[in-house]
Amino acid sequence: MTILRIALPTPLRRLFDYLPPTSGLDATPCIGVRVRVSFGRRELTGILIEVAQTSDLPPAKLKPVLEILDQTPPLPLHLLELACWAADYYQHPIGDALHQALPVLLRKGESDQPSPQLRWHVVAGTVAEDIAPRARKQRALLELLLEHPEGLDSQAIRSAGYSSVQQKPLTDKGLIEQREARSDASPPVTDGTTLLRQPVLPLNDEQQQALDTIFHNEGFNPVLLQGITGSGKTEVYLQAIERILRNGSQALVLVPEIGLTPQTVSRFRSRFGVDVQVLHSNMTDRQRLDAWLQARSGQARVVIGTRSALFTPLQSPGIIIVDEEHDTSFKQQDGFRYSARDLAVMRARAENVPLVLGTATPSLESLHNAHSGRYRHVRLTTRAGNARPPRFELYDIRQQPLNSGLSAEVLRRIGTELHQGNQVLLFLNRRGFSPALMCHQCGTVIECDRCDARMTLHRTPPHLHCHHCDHQRPVPSRCPSCHTSDFKPQGAGTERTEAVLQQLFPDTDVIRVDRDSTQRRNAMQDIMDRVHDGRPCILVGTQMLAKGHHFPAVTLVVILDADAGLFSADFRGMERTAQLILQVAGRAGRAERPGQVLMQTHHADHPTLTQLVSQGYEAFATAELALRRSSGLPPFIYHALLRAEANRRGRAEAFLSTLCTELASSGLNLPGVEWLGPFPAAMEKRAGFFRAQLLLQSQDRRALQQVLSIITPMLEQSPLARQVRWSLDVDPVDSH
Ligand code: ADP
Ligand code: ZN
Repeated sequence: MTILRIALPTPLRRLFDYLPPTSGLDATPCIGVRVRVSFGRRELTGILIEVAQTSDLPPAKLKPVLEILDQTPPLPLHLLELACWAADYYQHPIGDALHQALPVLLRKGESDQPSPQLRWHVVAGTVAEDIAPRARKQRALLELLLEHPEGLDSQAIRSAGYSSVQQKPLTDKGLIEQREARSDASPPVTDGTTLLRQPVLPLNDEQQQALDTIFHNEGFNPVLLQGITGSGKTEVYLQAIERILRNGSQALVLVPEIGLTPQTVSRFRSRFGVDVQVLHSNMTDRQRLDAWLQARSGQARVVIGTRSALFTPLQSPGIIIVDEEHDTSFKQQDGFRYSARDLAVMRARAENVPLVLGTATPSLESLHNAHSGRYRHVRLTTRAGNARPPRFELYDIRQQPLNSGLSAEVLRRIGTELHQGNQVLLFLNRRGFSPALMCHQCGTVIECDRCDARMTLHRTPPHLHCHHCDHQRPVPSRCPSCHTSDFKPQGAGTERTEAVLQQLFPDTDVIRVDRDSTQRRNAMQDIMDRVHDGRPCILVGTQMLAKGHHFPAVTLVVILDADAGLFSADFRGMERTAQLILQVAGRAGRAERPGQVLMQTHHADHPTLTQLVSQGYEAFATAELALRRSSGLPPFIYHALLRAEANRRGRAEAFLSTLCTELASSGLNLPGVEWLGPFPAAMEKRAGFFRAQLLLQSQDRRALQQVLSIITPMLEQSPLARQVRWSLDVDPVDSH
């Protein structure tokens, strides 16, 4: 008897047995092909994982597969294995994990054969001068298309920062047109002459050494490329990619969600005369599938994407690059909680290609791996070109009068810079007008009904917003406890800082950059256009400002609240703070104008802050690592966090306690694994649920895995599990 064991997208951590389809099957299907099956009253698309001879179920109970959807597996076997391994390691249901490794349309059973591709081309005979220089953006688009005789698809045009506003008039004038690309296209042969569209920069010694290290040995070779902002990491990536492109291989570049900006992509597109494909969450399912298929067929030579692009198949893999490797967005924070960075290491090993983890501020995990010799470690310590690194200054605001969080000294320095024609950037990682609204008569602070948290006051438009559960409501006219109407906003968020600065500098453009101000389509592009015209302006923003963007005319960066993360309950608080500070600081003085970074703090003598500022990130991180080692914290121990939540207080904790009791009484021998808790979460109530957690830890990764694989079925089968939602987070990046 032939039994097909299928992974199905259900919450169950197991495979499901089916019989082969009743007709039309000549041979046993290959592992990895998609199948359509009936499951309960639904039809699901699953993936064939094993072919077996026996089943635990009686044959009469087995149903035949309805249809085999593929002749060959959509995902190459080694990526299928990687996804299975990850499902196992992160304790996630295998069917769902595999589904997430596939583009949405393939999950739905669509064909994995490429659809005809439409591309924009310049009509023969057109020259840039056909458009008057006045129509700047139209002309720029035309020039872009002139540089790309192979054509660009709409997605590429969009991500280069153009829209139908430029496209339509060019079409109407008959200068550009859409044509079907040859879909038979075998991978283009890169003969070297067409590969580079732009001359390479001569590398400085450190960059050259970095490049040599990446190719130090053939095959798998993990490298931590630690280079301060502006030191030319991207140039090293580009030249490493050039090298593998010349060998006919492809490159996979992973970037954080927030870092996938048009500028980033255009650096790759303007360097190489090959197909560069982008994969991110703002694309339609069809666009994503097309890009994915082009990567798989080898048509796309460079693939740039966010976390989920990790599973993109390449026909001839040549290198994997993870930029900003410390960024926590590489770890999925719900459902299938995988780390794309860590899996990138696994993938590079499986594909036997070099792996570059690039950052100015390595995660302590990667730094530890570099220090212990598991990764090669190269540093870029100077800025490329003539730019000089910024000068740091801790500014003590104890006992100083503050105007909505701004000291007189900061205002004076802003004025000076603006007067000299420079731009200024203020960083405050708090959006909204004010983080709390307090009644001046009785001291009541308005809290969210569904969370243990204060509601943030927003002014544009006026409302209260809970940043934890997203609940919004009107600003109350009277205090709920004393019924007076004498509210005072407490503290400042970006909206308030913007308002105050606009009042103090009425003739200067004050530009706010946060999630609220950039919601509109193209809003970010408009902001960048305003900043890049070079006139003096003040940028006020959250961490959206810290990543992926370059502000060449900014000479002063002000960190309004350097203390924000200093006393965090999470042991990673200090690491995150340091990374964020350096990242924001890196925006300043990239061009010929040197930058200064002014940090407002109540702890100007805080040993960690002063060390960070005077000795740099690696000194800080090395000290922090020593601390982690002595306190028995990651990366010197492995964590798995079991979270639970329920709609009644105490229930989640009880659920976890029961598990602990069962574990203790089960007589299982679990050497080397400890559990701490259960504890209520730092914010116990969120979105109407009461949360608790149990931390499991071990110095032995395998022992921890073993315990987890015992615990998950216990949790699944627990009768209490009906009243509780639980999740397991292996190698969590935040402990809340
Ligand atoms: P990073 O990625 O480390 O922030 P970039 O690669 O963006 O740094 O480089 C910063 C700036 O320095 C860019 O404008 C880049 O063109 C320039 N640059 C990089 N390498 C060189 C080099 N070898 N010679 C001259 N300029 C360089
Ligand atoms: Zn809330």
